[in-house]
Amino acid sequence: MFQNFDEASDSSQSASRAAWLRASLKEMGIDGFVVPRADEHQGEYIPAAADRLRWLTGFTGSAGTALVLPETAAIFVDGRYTVQVRAQVDASVFAIESSVDTPLGTYLREHAKTLRIGIDPWLHTVGEVAMLRAAMAEAGGELVPLAHNPLDRVWQDRPLPPKGAVAVHPIEHAGRSSAEKLGEIGEALAKANADATVLTDPSSVAWTFNIRGSDVPHTPLPLSFALIPREGRPTLFIDAEKLGNDVARALGDLADIAAPETLERSLAAFAAERRIMLDPALAADRLREVVEGAGGTVVAGADPARLPRARKNAVEIEGSRRAHLRDGAAVSAFLAWLDAQAPGTVDEIGAAEALERFRARFGEADGQPLRDLSFDTISAAGPNAALPHYRVNRQSNRVLGEGEVFLIDSGAQYLDGTTDITRTVAIGRVADEARRKFTLVLKGMIAISRARFPVGTRGIDLDPLARVALWQAGCDYAHGTGHGIGSYLAVHEGPQSISRRGMAVLEAGMIVSNEPGYYREGAFGIRIENLILVSKPERIAGGDLDTHSFETLTFAPIDRRMIATEHLDAGERAWLDAYHADVRAAIAPRLDGEVRVWLEAATRPLADG
Ligand code: ZN
Ligand code: ZN
Repeated sequence: MFQNFDEASDSSQSASRAAWLRASLKEMGIDGFVVPRADEHQGEYIPAAADRLRWLTGFTGSAGTALVLPETAAIFVDGRYTVQVRAQVDASVFAIESSVDTPLGTYLREHAKTLRIGIDPWLHTVGEVAMLRAAMAEAGGELVPLAHNPLDRVWQDRPLPPKGAVAVHPIEHAGRSSAEKLGEIGEALAKANADATVLTDPSSVAWTFNIRGSDVPHTPLPLSFALIPREGRPTLFIDAEKLGNDVARALGDLADIAAPETLERSLAAFAAERRIMLDPALAADRLREVVEGAGGTVVAGADPARLPRARKNAVEIEGSRRAHLRDGAAVSAFLAWLDAQAPGTVDEIGAAEALERFRARFGEADGQPLRDLSFDTISAAGPNAALPHYRVNRQSNRVLGEGEVFLIDSGAQYLDGTTDITRTVAIGRVADEARRKFTLVLKGMIAISRARFPVGTRGIDLDPLARVALWQAGCDYAHGTGHGIGSYLAVHEGPQSISRRGMAVLEAGMIVSNEPGYYREGAFGIRIENLILVSKPERIAGGDLDTHSFETLTFAPIDRRMIATEHLDAGERAWLDAYHADVRAAIAPRLDGEVRVWLEAATRPLADG
């Protein structure tokens, strides 16, 4: 199993740990300290050794920040985690704040007047530090970057940094050679008039050098940095113990290999009187300090691997299609199995384990074994599903009871692609209220699936399409509609998204999720998610503009019992029937016996009742 269900959260030590931290800060002459959920790479996926926020507060969400002041402390999380944070964090130690309503900067202006607030400059981006410094200057205090993280001195039994093995990601899956990708990065540096860049996002290092690692759960990242000059040999900063002989040889053809601890020294030596491009939203502020300290200039520019990585090449697109057929068959077989179980006989953990077994079986049968899940399965029954990022553990595990709505959001890592799919299904007979909300969510999901949009459209422009049916009913959901996804890489990948923050243009070859939802606290949660591919632009008959559309990659039935058909219009019904016909055609040949019979019934036209 690639998942376990042990309780990960423990806030019983929070008070004493915050006290240790305060004592340690006092010795250093510092009044407060900021603890983000971040490592040196500023990604969503961090090793246990870097999960200082969890150690300190008990909070296990994927985003959040704590602030410890002399008398008080607070934790800041966004709308996805407002319910979870209350359940996990001891509010008598950490006051709970919304990072949207009261961002850390605003809070510091109010509560940290004249104080000296420490940060670990490896754990904040260039952009964040600029913002925090401005906030502290306004508050009449000071932001102090510290040479050593004071929390690490008090963290007993801190796990060791991971040493996950690195593998070459072969060209038959990568589609483009590393030399070609390095050439493209060199061109971007020339255009920005920069002499070099530091890739700090392990996804970017993995993509550029066609390697995959195993340092963090569920995402094949090799934790590493790369210094890439406009011309000449790059240096890859990676623990040599992670590289087998064949990988070391393959990488040695492309780059010099150096230990991660030598990055600061090498960068300082290189940067003098040179222009170094750093992504202010991704690069640790420590790197800016090193460049400027050595007499170099920082050029702000987007990570040059990010956009080319997001535009999947033809080989990656073919791989993703294959991965989705396999994965859709596994999910369909799981849904058929679930349907055959009587209400009250399966629990959330049992469902998550069953789905993983189906994925393993279908991967094996298809000659493309399941390498990992792409994240911990969200298997949520009844009120548990009202937490969009709920993760089941042995204490919270709930039986899927008669009349409940069950939400399962899951994904797989295969060598040829990463998947992410959510289905929400009825257990027995579900109340009309939940079916009506499901239908509103479905209308939004269909609106995105059917969208045609001009070249140059950004994700933010499409986001309302997914919400308007909910808005008309006075409802909404507190998360984005869609995120980018990697190719045997991270399940969340930028720069594109369909959301209120989706400023990146949607370009041909980009894959995004389409996952509107609805959550009623204490009652139920609904989400429907497919992955969709931005098509090449074309001029349709009678049209004036070149427009993109979306190709749906995900194939699995959408529960017809959850649909209040009378709330769908003719176009929406036609879309759903056509989608189900596609699912049947794509998946039925991979199933046999009763499961195939189940699929035929689950995908029949709505008019058939
Ligand atoms: Zn998902
Ligand atoms: Zn997703």
